[in-house]
Amino acid sequence: MTKKMSLPQQILIALLLGIVVGLVCYFTQNAAITTKFLKPFGDIFVNLLKFIVVPVVLLSMIQGIISMGDMKKVGSVGGKTIAFFMATTAVACAIGLIMANLFNGAGLFPTLALGETTYQAKEFGGFMGVLVGIFPSNMWSAFVNANMLQVIVIALFFGGSILAAGEQSEPVRQLVDSLYAVVEKLMVFIISLSPIGVFTYMAWVVATQGANIIGSLALVLLCAYIGYFVHAIIVYSISAKFGAGMSPVKFFKEAVPAMIFAFTSASSAATLPVSKECAEKMGADKNIAAFVLPLGATVHMDGTAIYQCVATIFLATCAGVELTLFQMVLIVVIATLSAIGTAGTPGAGVIMLTMVLGTVGIPVDYIGLIIAVDRLFDMGRTTMNITGDIVGALCVTKWENGKLNN
Ligand code: ASP
Repeated sequence: MTKKMSLPQQILIALLLGIVVGLVCYFTQNAAITTKFLKPFGDIFVNLLKFIVVPVVLLSMIQGIISMGDMKKVGSVGGKTIAFFMATTAVACAIGLIMANLFNGAGLFPTLALGETTYQAKEFGGFMGVLVGIFPSNMWSAFVNANMLQVIVIALFFGGSILAAGEQSEPVRQLVDSLYAVVEKLMVFIISLSPIGVFTYMAWVVATQGANIIGSLALVLLCAYIGYFVHAIIVYSISAKFGAGMSPVKFFKEAVPAMIFAFTSASSAATLPVSKECAEKMGADKNIAAFVLPLGATVHMDGTAIYQCVATIFLATCAGVELTLFQMVLIVVIATLSAIGTAGTPGAGVIMLTMVLGTVGIPVDYIGLIIAVDRLFDMGRTTMNITGDIVGALCVTKWENGKLNN
């Protein structure tokens, strides 16, 4: 009797197959084939996920808020969520700084000259600009541009107003429920295609980035990945065990589908449907997960924070800038804030890195040294970003309800 393979198994096999095909194409110098024929299928898949992410975030957050019943409960869940997010991101920064200083102190970071690589910095509005930008002046443009921070604000306002309107809002509640049920079905269908996305993207990344892995930035990459790893093992294990009362081994085992997915797609927003499934399966309250995960995919980025600290120390060395202890503390603060402002899409973190570099006096041009291999950093940081969200949803469930759902 043949049993149908479970989705996590399919995803794992797709990942391994992708690596094998990627390696074959890399060593036979056929990387262009993967770009031409495989990557487009990955792109189709990620497009599908992106197209559904605005309705998922909007409806899931509104529904989460409505189901919590009153704004006091929303405030309580929101407060715990933000506290958890801030604390873990601050620790992530510290881990990033420690790792980078260890590597730097041991002389392991290469010192690269700026040379031909110049980077055109994007206009960055500063902290106040970011704050103002969170509040949409036009609801539709927030949806059209998939500006997730704005979408979250819209969801909070509408969710709150539906609660405030009491009985009169009954038809709207039913509409939200019904729309979300439809979107959820679509989501399940799109997720069932994920092995295709994972396989094609993995083959493409391995085939095209193979040279970079063995290139001069290998040690910087290693430093960031050790940072990611240490953070996961220490912070997420402790959170799972003492926050959510769950065995860390079980936690990581069940988070694997979302982690692989984030690793290959490099997008927290696109991974959201998968992380939601994983979190609920592990016992996160449906309504709490509906609130915490979309918020986390947008503002909670531990991997991005680690990356920014490592990249800043590395680029400071290249630029010949000596950082003081005060500046290191400043990096932690700015990296935490900039991780909040980073969108959950591929490559967003490297754009926000400009903000961190600027505050410690490193010319923004230096980003050019690291941007070519950003995808490799991004895959790891996105994996951390969503793992942190899932453990967050579990902890907040435990703190609010006293236990997980199973
Ligand atoms: N790609 C990351 C994410 O989606 C963000 C980043 O570039 O750091 O979580």
